[in-house]
Amino acid sequence: MPYKVLVIPGDGIGPEVVEAALHVINAAAAKYGVDLEIKIAEAGDVALRKYGVAMPPETLKLADSADVIFKGPIGESAYDVTSLIRMRYVLYANIRPVKNLPGVPVVKEIDCVFVRENVEDVYVGAEYKIGDVAIALKVITGVGTRRVARVARRYAEMRKRKVTIVHKANVLRVVDGFFRDVALEELRGLEVDQMYVDAAAMELVRNPLRFDVVLTTNQYGDILTDLAAQVAGGIGLAPSGNIGDTKAMFEPVHGAAFDIAGKGIANPIATILSAAMMFEWIGRGDVAQAIRRAVEISLEKNIKTPDIGGRNTTIEVGKFIASAI
Ligand code: ATP
Ligand code: MG
Repeated sequence: MPYKVLVIPGDGIGPEVVEAALHVINAAAAKYGVDLEIKIAEAGDVALRKYGVAMPPETLKLADSADVIFKGPIGESAYDVTSLIRMRYVLYANIRPVKNLPGVPVVKEIDCVFVRENVEDVYVGAEYKIGDVAIALKVITGVGTRRVARVARRYAEMRKRKVTIVHKANVLRVVDGFFRDVALEELRGLEVDQMYVDAAAMELVRNPLRFDVVLTTNQYGDILTDLAAQVAGGIGLAPSGNIGDTKAMFEPVHGAAFDIAGKGIANPIATILSAAMMFEWIGRGDVAQAIRRAVEISLEKNIKTPDIGGRNTTIEVGKFIASAI
């Protein structure tokens, strides 16, 4: 049975980086004999302009029947596409590894994995405006915290067995306090410490190597992972996986970056490394390793886009990495 992969190119630089990544996915699947059934569908601002909905019913149907979704960034309609996919399939853990790569100017040495809760917090969409007051509800549940903490535990057990819980329980005593307490309980037996989110931001720049696995809530994770990606060498290199119990979605951390769209200069590596995470998730760690190695080879050979000091185009980088597989 082939793995059904739904590809959503997305907006801005999305179609460019996804096209480059598809070269790599196809090369890797052919070389390693992975049976993929790839379908491509529209969603995002492009779909909104064409059909009046950001997530057309056809795309949603394909997403429902897919095993895994591979997605480029979405522009203005991110909430209607990215958040919808995360919520609909309960992709409750957002995995964002952060690690230096060869041939990339380094801000600081870093090697950690963020496990960000992905379906709760202030992103549940419970926002209200009442006269002169605007309210957003921050929702944290025990079941939601336990399941994402278990993912953090799995990663810690594969790594240095250390988890840092990031929260702001000194101010948000009830909600963040609950997240911390439930997480602490779920992580018993591992080396666990905790840090306020503001201190974590500082430490990520000052001494990033102190982090191994970072477990945090949705919004703090959103912000800290952009910061951490830049510490590692740039947002154009940062991959991510959105994991649930039966389905998953893989996408770059970065957004649609309209300022550089259509110029052929977007870095496809974040998207290509997201493809590596996808192969890992379907149980093909060997293919993931081959893709990561091919990425390193391209960087060592100086085949790179301008954001990291190179002179190659998006598609040149994609094709080179595909050929290096
Ligand atoms: P969002 O609002 O979804 O975060 P965004 O348009 O702000 O989307 P970001 O990902 O936050 O996009 O990117 C910020 C800037 O970083 C972009 O405007 C772009 O200049 C740069 N950038 C982002 N991704 C890439 C990439 N893959 N390659 C090169 N530069 C990038
Ligand atoms: Mg942004």
